[in-house]
Amino acid sequence: MRVLRFWALALISAAWLCAPMVAAEAKPDQIIVIEGQCDVKDARTGGQRMHLLTFDVPKGVTRIEIKKQLDFGPNGSGTVDHGLADPRGAGFGMPGFRGWMGGSKADFTLTGDPATTSQYYLAGPIQPGRWTLLQWTVSLPPTGLKYRYTVRLSFDGPAPPSEMPQAPKFDQGTLNPKADWYLGDLHAHTLHSDGNKTLSQLTQQHVDAGFDFFVSTDHNTNRAHFEFATAVREHPKELILYGEEVTHPMMHANVIGCRPGSLFDMRIAPDVVTENHLSKVIAQAHRDGAIFSVNHPFYWGATDWRISPDEWKDGDGVEVWNVGWSAANQAALDHWDALLQKGRHLVALSGSDTHGGGVGGSPAVHVYAQNLSRDAIMDGLRKGHVFLSENTKGAQIYLSVRGKSALPGDTLQWSAGNPLPVQVRVIGGDGMTLRLVWPGGEAKLPVDKHIVTISRDIALDASRNANYIRAELIKPDGRMAALTNPIYVK
Ligand SMILES: [Zn+2]
Ligand SMILES: [Zn+2]
Repeated sequence: MRVLRFWALALISAAWLCAPMVAAEAKPDQIIVIEGQCDVKDARTGGQRMHLLTFDVPKGVTRIEIKKQLDFGPNGSGTVDHGLADPRGAGFGMPGFRGWMGGSKADFTLTGDPATTSQYYLAGPIQPGRWTLLQWTVSLPPTGLKYRYTVRLSFDGPAPPSEMPQAPKFDQGTLNPKADWYLGDLHAHTLHSDGNKTLSQLTQQHVDAGFDFFVSTDHNTNRAHFEFATAVREHPKELILYGEEVTHPMMHANVIGCRPGSLFDMRIAPDVVTENHLSKVIAQAHRDGAIFSVNHPFYWGATDWRISPDEWKDGDGVEVWNVGWSAANQAALDHWDALLQKGRHLVALSGSDTHGGGVGGSPAVHVYAQNLSRDAIMDGLRKGHVFLSENTKGAQIYLSVRGKSALPGDTLQWSAGNPLPVQVRVIGGDGMTLRLVWPGGEAKLPVDKHIVTISRDIALDASRNANYIRAELIKPDGRMAALTNPIYVK
């Protein structure tokens, strides 16, 4: 990496030429060039490198503009993510976080005003000191990458504020006092990462699709949190939760229900960090009152999920249903079930993963909550009082045990040797098959009415490590219509 600096010629304004009087003295822009190259080894699978390219910002700067030139060679292509940190620091947790853009090739500008700052970045103070351009070589061609960043520092225009803006912290309160099953989407992107909608437009989409709540989960950034006040003002009846999709080539995971402005560092790969940072991210999520869910673990194939279960042993859930039902979702469901059989209690979750193209066909999370508020929804999610359905108008499946008040996610005491009287109420599943699943067994039962309660006594094997019962509703073409979380049995 090589840094070149020079002062640009001050532009002589026409006004100055015409007016013989006084003109404000415009300090010339300062240009810094950062250039260098990366070897393909920098992007080897699982070892993606984060390069910290620094530049010094003097006092009085009002605007930072960074132009990127990325040369992957004549026939090459690659993916490079970029972020920016101010002098507060780019260490783990990123105290100086000012923005992140995954894979986007766009140049960007940062000022004190959101209106003139690129959508990925946080407008605010431009502190003098050492700034860091984060360069993450996710994939590179065999010839590597030659890069050149031209940083232009300007001194004209409005002075930036001296303090960072605070993400609006507000309590939407209780939007519905009734204890009920509420419909949510736990995974959605705005234009502050790679979606194409503002937070408010995304909220409108969720209102239109019939969701009571949704979680804003942009990749590696909290930028959308700063738009919550507008979104809530425009859509006061929709509950919006803060979140982030912690995104690394080795894993994607959702933090759901964090505090406004919280940022969760994605740098969890073995050679980016040295210690078990994933567990630190999970602990941070829990301190925030949020839950941590592993996302679409097999979306790109069977080897995607390269983080061992031990490293996320404190995680809360698995997104077993991402977008429409697929082989990748089936693999995630099987993986989740295998973990349940080992005795883990993990909540099966779903997400539309919308990037703005519509959420009408998305899976829906049904959460039983004491009311429609942030705290009650988070409580229901944490307890696993959840079933999933293919969309907000899809089939519903209510799993219970006769004579008990247990919901999915709860643990029931049961004396060994007695069959468990399982009951499932199905709405909208006529013509489908109800599949009851427990460790070492399954039962397939036809559903022949629009609304029906199906009962079955299940003999559980008390010698197993773990025992539970869960239910799936399967369409005639073999695709999933709905599935429940397990009722655990002791
Ligand atoms: Zn993802
Ligand atoms: Zn996503």
